[in-house]
Amino acid sequence: MKPGTITTSSKRMSYDVIIIGGAVIGSASAWFLSTNPDFDGTVLVVERDPTYQWTSTATTNSCIRKQFSNAINVRISQFGVEFIKSFREQLGGDEAIPEIALDSYGYLFLAGNAQVAGTLRENQALQQACGVNTRIMTPEEIADAYPFYYLDDIVLGSHNTENEGYFDGNTMFEWWKRKARQNGVEYITNEVVGIGRAGKHVDSVRLKSGEVISAGKIINASGPRAAVTARMAGVELPVEARKRYTFVFDAQTRLDRDLPLTIDPTGVHVRNDGAYYLCGGPPDDDPAVEFDDFEFDHSVWEEKFWPAIATRIPAFEAVKVVHSWIGHYAYNVLDQNAVIGAHPEAMNFIFVNGFSGHGFQQSPAMGRGVSELVAYGEFRELDLSPLGYERILKNEPFLEKAVI
Ligand SMILES: Cc1cc2nc3c(=O)[nH]c(=O)nc-3n(C[C@H](O)[C@H](O)[C@H](O)COP(=O)(O)OP(=O)(O)OC[C@H]3O[C@@H](n4cnc5c(N)ncnc54)[C@H](O)[C@@H]3O)c2cc1C
Repeated sequence: MKPGTITTSSKRMSYDVIIIGGAVIGSASAWFLSTNPDFDGTVLVVERDPTYQWTSTATTNSCIRKQFSNAINVRISQFGVEFIKSFREQLGGDEAIPEIALDSYGYLFLAGNAQVAGTLRENQALQQACGVNTRIMTPEEIADAYPFYYLDDIVLGSHNTENEGYFDGNTMFEWWKRKARQNGVEYITNEVVGIGRAGKHVDSVRLKSGEVISAGKIINASGPRAAVTARMAGVELPVEARKRYTFVFDAQTRLDRDLPLTIDPTGVHVRNDGAYYLCGGPPDDDPAVEFDDFEFDHSVWEEKFWPAIATRIPAFEAVKVVHSWIGHYAYNVLDQNAVIGAHPEAMNFIFVNGFSGHGFQQSPAMGRGVSELVAYGEFRELDLSPLGYERILKNEPFLEKAVI
């Protein structure tokens, strides 16, 4: 078949695994499955929009950090970095496979009060125990390293410049798709509109075009729509779509050195972006939105983002927005963390959802985790079970204090 041809019907009527959603998480799962030596089953990926235009994946800022408060999230990112840095080798070593760029200017979390400062210190101790070189910096140390910040209201910062910053996640996604296909995974353009369930098992998906396809296991990789997909099997998932804004801007006076991904106490973040700078964050009013609601409120820039960054970095008083967009987080209302694993009442229905703002960097570990669950019925390389569905049933959040 010619590249770019859209196929809406699958070749078979039955697959060992059907993945709902073919963006970064669905394709990571597909690729890891296709290379797992202990899995030789058939895999179908059903994707409703092959342009991926409105997905979290297409609207991401694609950064990775090891500054989390929970050891599992740190280890997930450590694997992510390892994977990114050996990408070509991981994908088989073919010279045509690009190396993935990782621009390590680091994240700089700024604490505006003693409580947040205490949290950053605790996080740094945990990160250090995991082998991450995060440094706590006094305002004087920050001023020495980065003289452009206004710091009178800052108690301290935490910063790590080792393998932390922007990475080219889009290239990773494209190659996962391509290689998964080469390894025999089938992708079709269609929409799953129903899931068949008999007791504690799901057994099929119904497509918008009418076909019903049998499945040994079903993976929910449907991003902000994950709760809709879950409901098709009679299961609730506390994930909703929430708007996140990104503004790329040019500055009349460029800073004389790299700008770390700076997380301001206002919740706005700003960083280097090639010749420009990139600023992002949530609107003040942050409700769940419809999946097709990408209406842009320009006052967010004027009233929230620009004042915040121009206060923090006075050189940004004179800037010009060159590009801006809205994306949707798949926002996990319980604790803004991944949900990975089967539902206890639908044991072959595997979730990999709810990443909120850190799903891109977690995609390698999540893809590997899904492939292990399918092949072995358990996690092998890294135990992700604290991120399982059970915590939702018990209403016990997985506490992660470093959420952006
Ligand atoms: C503005 C913004 C900035 C971000 N920045 C970062 C960052 O710096 N670092 C980071 O790690 N993460 C970041 N994220 C989060 C990250 O982008 C997401 O967590 C990640 O892309 C989630 O991928 P996904 O595959 O789960 O979801 P999506 O990319 O949304 O994909 C879900 C797919 O499922 C398909 N689908 C849904 N329902 C169906 C159905 N019924 N049938 C068939 N197909 C279906 C959709 O069409 C879509 O292609 C950011 C997100 C946003 C919005």
